[in-house]
Amino acid sequence: MSRKTKFIFITGGVLSSLGKGLASAAIGALLESRGLTITLQKLDPYINVDPGTMNPFQHGEVFVTDDGAETDLDLGHYERFTHAKLGRNNNYTTGKIYHSVITKERRGDYLGGTVQVIPHITDEIKRSILSAADGVDVVIVEVGGTIGDIESLPFQEAIRQFKSDVGKENVIYVHLTLVPYIATAGEVKTKPTQHSVKELRSIGIQPDILLCRTDRFLSDDIKAKIALFCNVDVDQVITAKDVDSIYEVPLVFHQQHLDDKIVELLNIWTRAPKLHEWEKLVEKIKNPKDSVTIAIVGKYIHLRESYKSLNEALFHGGLGNDCAVELDFVDSETIEDTNVETRLASAHGILVPGGFGSRGIEGKIRAIRYSREQQKPFFGICLGMQMAVVEYARHAAGMTGAHSTEFDKQTPFPVIYLMTEWFDYQTQTVQKRDPDSDKGGTMRLGAYPCVIKEGSTAYRAYGRKEIFERHRHRFEFNNALRERLEKAALVISGVSPDGELVEIIEVPDHPWFLGCQFHPEFKSRPMEPHPLFVSFIRAALEYKKAQSD
Ligand code: GLN
Repeated sequence: MSRKTKFIFITGGVLSSLGKGLASAAIGALLESRGLTITLQKLDPYINVDPGTMNPFQHGEVFVTDDGAETDLDLGHYERFTHAKLGRNNNYTTGKIYHSVITKERRGDYLGGTVQVIPHITDEIKRSILSAADGVDVVIVEVGGTIGDIESLPFQEAIRQFKSDVGKENVIYVHLTLVPYIATAGEVKTKPTQHSVKELRSIGIQPDILLCRTDRFLSDDIKAKIALFCNVDVDQVITAKDVDSIYEVPLVFHQQHLDDKIVELLNIWTRAPKLHEWEKLVEKIKNPKDSVTIAIVGKYIHLRESYKSLNEALFHGGLGNDCAVELDFVDSETIEDTNVETRLASAHGILVPGGFGSRGIEGKIRAIRYSREQQKPFFGICLGMQMAVVEYARHAAGMTGAHSTEFDKQTPFPVIYLMTEWFDYQTQTVQKRDPDSDKGGTMRLGAYPCVIKEGSTAYRAYGRKEIFERHRHRFEFNNALRERLEKAALVISGVSPDGELVEIIEVPDHPWFLGCQFHPEFKSRPMEPHPLFVSFIRAALEYKKAQSD
């Protein structure tokens, strides 16, 4: 930590899902626009060591960082809104904190002392906060959960203590609450906010800024009332109004001088904010010139949070083409027997995303076959790529019964299988995997290099030969069947530098059919849409135009 590093702690009140992650990301964007270097960190109250083993239905997407950490999806917002470099130090859970305290206790580090929540757990939390602080001007720490929850108390106590540790001029607390409009009364109500702040003050934290989530701008009277009851100045009460696009949030905050207030309270001198890029972005979002429909054929379609980065990346791909992207979520189980053609007819492109488990797998394969045969743009990501290989093997390379050994251990053609030995770029070692080992920690995770074949669809999209993309999977393309698939014209257009890991496949004589073993969606940003998504959406647009000609 440099001597002058400042800390902003963001807590949430009243209820969850008010958009704390987005508010944190937007504050990060505003501070960067003033020339400050920042980082963001998420503290999660649950006991899992990381969200890696959690079901997407419960927790939403698992976001993967370059260094291979499996993290909370809020880190995805942070990366999309800012240039912060995030990794395993940017997300701590209660489980991870306890894990390291208990490891130290077993090692005898506490010299026979009684290990307690205060000070041992709180000290560990404070150390974790500092671990993300190296070399930046401001650290923005989002505390998960809601004020009043039992589980988040140690985190709240730690951030309270933190202020005296690093000096009160270096810390501010931002509290996000709800100010609901009650139709029968015809007015907004401030009581939930008052109670939430009372709760926060009872644990010793006086908020410096209140972000009030509401569906309308708050009047001066309401702001004055909140200020009075919550012991802040009126200009420290900010309306966090609902917006059409999440990318408007930084501008809405800026209009109310939130960034001015933050730098004033933290006593930082900065240049004036440069928000031109954000203004241009919002302008673009509001004025698309065309639109395409993309069918996402997957399993977790009822919970949009499960495909957070994917949805955003498709949206960014649209921005790269001045085009709106309508998403049509298709439950792959519903197209297992019949119905594929009718269900997918209105889509201009089809995407099969990543996933685990066999449910609906044959539906995905049918959707892939349909896109291949109908010459409809197809994008397969991770599991989507693996199933594209299975589909091709079965229906274009004469390998009846081909499958991934994840779903059929006895398949005569295991085109996708568990590789037991490979050179691992992340650790720079030869890794060995026992097929019967534990679920946690056995995946290929994080950024890996990939070399692209010139002249391929991938090369046209990226415009360069070497790329780094993030992975999260166990199974791989089986090299023993590679030659046979290539003889049947499957194009292998991306491989690891040693040539051993197949990373991208394509189908020839098709306008756009590409599968990648990695997750490109994790690296897409609104201002720098990911090349594969831009290229895929362009192909979908061209498909749409060709249909209407
Ligand atoms: N289940 C597949 C594997 O583990 C794909 C994983 C994914 O799509 N993220 O290899």
